[in-house]
Amino acid sequence: MKMLWLSLLTLMMPGQTPVAAFPLRSPDLPLHHDAGPPEAEQKFAEEYLQHFYGYKPKSQRQKRTAVRGVDADWTTELCDKVQEMQRFFGLPPTGELTNETLAVMRRPRCGLSDVERFEETIRWKKKTLSYRIAGYNSPISASKVHRVFRAAWRIWSNVAPMKFHKRSRKEADIVISFHNGDHQDGSPFDGKGGILAHAFLPGFGIGGDVHFDADEEWSVNSTGFNLLAVAVHEFGHALGLPHSSDPGAIMYPAYNFAPTHELQLSFRDVKDVQHMYGISPYFASLFSKRPPPRTPDKCDPDLSFDAVTELQQEVLFFKDRFMWRKHPKFEETGITLISSLWPDSVPPYLDAVYENVGGNVIVFFKGHQYWIWTLRQLKLEEGFPRNISDFGFPSRIKSVDAALHFRKDRYTVFFTGHVCWRYNELQKTIGGSPKLIAELWPGIPTPIDAAVFYEGFVHFFKGNVHYKYDPNAKRVVSTGPVNDQLDCKRTEDNEILSERK
Ligand code: ZN
Ligand code: CA
Repeated sequence: MKMLWLSLLTLMMPGQTPVAAFPLRSPDLPLHHDAGPPEAEQKFAEEYLQHFYGYKPKSQRQKRTAVRGVDADWTTELCDKVQEMQRFFGLPPTGELTNETLAVMRRPRCGLSDVERFEETIRWKKKTLSYRIAGYNSPISASKVHRVFRAAWRIWSNVAPMKFHKRSRKEADIVISFHNGDHQDGSPFDGKGGILAHAFLPGFGIGGDVHFDADEEWSVNSTGFNLLAVAVHEFGHALGLPHSSDPGAIMYPAYNFAPTHELQLSFRDVKDVQHMYGISPYFASLFSKRPPPRTPDKCDPDLSFDAVTELQQEVLFFKDRFMWRKHPKFEETGITLISSLWPDSVPPYLDAVYENVGGNVIVFFKGHQYWIWTLRQLKLEEGFPRNISDFGFPSRIKSVDAALHFRKDRYTVFFTGHVCWRYNELQKTIGGSPKLIAELWPGIPTPIDAAVFYEGFVHFFKGNVHYKYDPNAKRVVSTGPVNDQLDCKRTEDNEILSERK
């Protein structure tokens, strides 16, 4: 019911920016549609933007109006900063403090700014650096911590021509330590969660030093925060690297360690560190067979999708661990990790995804398994993943290629190979035998990768081709590269091609 009410609200107030707070919107929270967020949330957001996005609150700010907690000083500047942060994290750039935006702000992360850039690159002038572990207080044994740090340095020295030596006494270039709260460097830690660690750019004294928040639950596995994942990131700063908005990069500011995903530098990290220090002599032999992973690029002419779905007012395009979000109000599409919306819930490389609006759930498919995420409780339903045989498929069907949901008529079409199955969402049954895709959807080659219904058309995706299909006329009305669904401009295209050379 809430969703219907929301869409009515959006329809009735066309001048206003829509409520774009899915799916992390907690249903019991009021929707601060025209009143702005409550004071405490706005204060938190302002501090966040001040810390990470260089927002400068005006000293002579107007007094906040007490009425309904409205901040009369919801300035353009602040709105710009919210948009800058939203773009960085691949959120729709509404400029509003949606609950989803606030949720991203609350995610554990590195303490360094996301926008600080320096005139010239700050880097070490020598290739051999010493490090020392000081002020150690962690429940993990000292030898384990040493091993973790050694491994973290090796990840960088495998790609850049650097050597890192541990010293136990004397002075070292890089001092690594654990601290609680205020530790006299002007950037106090904040207790459990929030900021996990920070580091200083190369230089004398504190330069290059790395501090971990001792209040966090550090681990060498996936409980609490993985020390290796955070160490590799912070050591990147100690070498002079800034934050990257590439969600596949180690230098992405939010903590996104997933035990299912191998911890490694991305193509972007490698390129950035090699730009500063050159290429390690071991690089070619280590990475010739398995080059560092590239984050999928929306302008790649060979781009294909794993799955595509509508979700409330947006369209989501899934690829590997990532997804692009297309919001009807914004031309640009941001890339983000699937796990940023559904943490610890669904695996990467999905086969199909659809939103069952009537059931208020999102259904994910991979192989013979499926997962149901409830939008009401914002979590996975108990007992998932389950076998796709639940839908009534015969046992020979081991996976689905795509799921196409029709909100109005409450049914879903599943595509498997050359056939498709119509599933009634109300009766929860597949009606009749499968139909040939060639007969039901003439002009669509099989098997398909993904399908979605929006704006009155069915959109099919196969390889790098997008087919726009008119379901009434029963024909393909246009075809084009899949990139035409994302805001890929010709010029960007050229940039990317030249970057690859
Ligand atoms: Zn960082
Ligand atoms: Ca903390």
